[in-house]
Amino acid sequence: MSSKRDYYDILGVGKNATPEEIKKAFRKLALEFHPDRNKDKGAEARFKEINEAYQVLSDPEKKQSYDQFGHDGVKANFQDFDFNNFGGFGDIFDAFFGGSQSSRSSSRRKGRDLHKEVSITFQESAFGVEKDIHIERIGECKSCSGSGAKDQSNVITCSSCKGSGQVKRVQKTIFGQFAQSGICSDCSGAGKTVKEKCSGCSGKGAELEKRDISVKIPRGVSSGDTIKLSGEGEFGGIGSVKGDIFIKVNVPDHEYFSRRRKDVLLTLELDFTQAILGDNLDVPTLDGFQKVSIPSGTQNGEIIQIKGKGFTDIGGSSRGNQINVIKVAIPKDLSNEEKDKIREFKDLSENSDNKKSKGIFRKFISGN
Ligand SMILES: [Zn+2]
Ligand SMILES: [Zn+2]
Repeated sequence: MSSKRDYYDILGVGKNATPEEIKKAFRKLALEFHPDRNKDKGAEARFKEINEAYQVLSDPEKKQSYDQFGHDGVKANFQDFDFNNFGGFGDIFDAFFGGSQSSRSSSRRKGRDLHKEVSITFQESAFGVEKDIHIERIGECKSCSGSGAKDQSNVITCSSCKGSGQVKRVQKTIFGQFAQSGICSDCSGAGKTVKEKCSGCSGKGAELEKRDISVKIPRGVSSGDTIKLSGEGEFGGIGSVKGDIFIKVNVPDHEYFSRRRKDVLLTLELDFTQAILGDNLDVPTLDGFQKVSIPSGTQNGEIIQIKGKGFTDIGGSSRGNQINVIKVAIPKDLSNEEKDKIREFKDLSENSDNKKSKGIFRKFISGN
């Protein structure tokens, strides 16, 4: 056994270390090498070594024996020690460090959450909508309201936990005894047990439910947003809290409109004559058609805004704008007569002297 490391070395303390110093050193090392936290190879072996050292050095009798006889003095104590019999590292760790174990087990059980998806139109996402969603869930049994008992007189206070739903358990660990409270196994934490069972659900308190529930989807919702319906999920058994329903909203792309934060974007296609001469147009918006005046000389890529025809934030009231991006269409298939007219226009425009840009262009390509 001479290959075994010295326990004082393992904990990094001197031979005269006080119990407090030993405990402090152990805590620090145990936190560092706890396999739940430290995924390094060898961390688990190190953790066991640290535990072993602490078990000896924190026990006055074992410590004395170790101080006198070294490893041989305490060897026998470890022969039947099986680390895994303590319910894993987490239990020991939580018991020793006052972790979340007890608070976790004392919180009420919760039924399963359900996840659903719903598709709404672009328009519906702007103004909000109510949708029916079909759900199938484990619900409370109707005949016993989830109690699992034939009637109320058959519901009795659990004798194991006196109705608290909690029992104190003394857990023996390598660090000593720890009292932990946990859910009473006789009543599953409900604090009540049943004498004569409900015939409708054979005492389970639960039954399968199929129903449509109406879901309010708020205006301003975006594709991918999730709506939570608290307590509409599954019943988790007697004394539990119900799960939730999470509804993911899907908004397929609109054929013409798109959304940018609170604004609606629309590509507004104009004939080149409309762009040149101007026009009054009925432009589609989320609220229906709206008259928009296109000024003469409107350029390709220019933006014409319609105020207040956009989206709101979720549940908000102030609306963004509709941003119309102008796209001037150049005709491809002109009749001969139309082409003649365009040529006529070209000649006219070349002779007029307000076409300075054209002059620059011509200069540029002729290389002058
Ligand atoms: Zn109980
Ligand atoms: Zn029932």
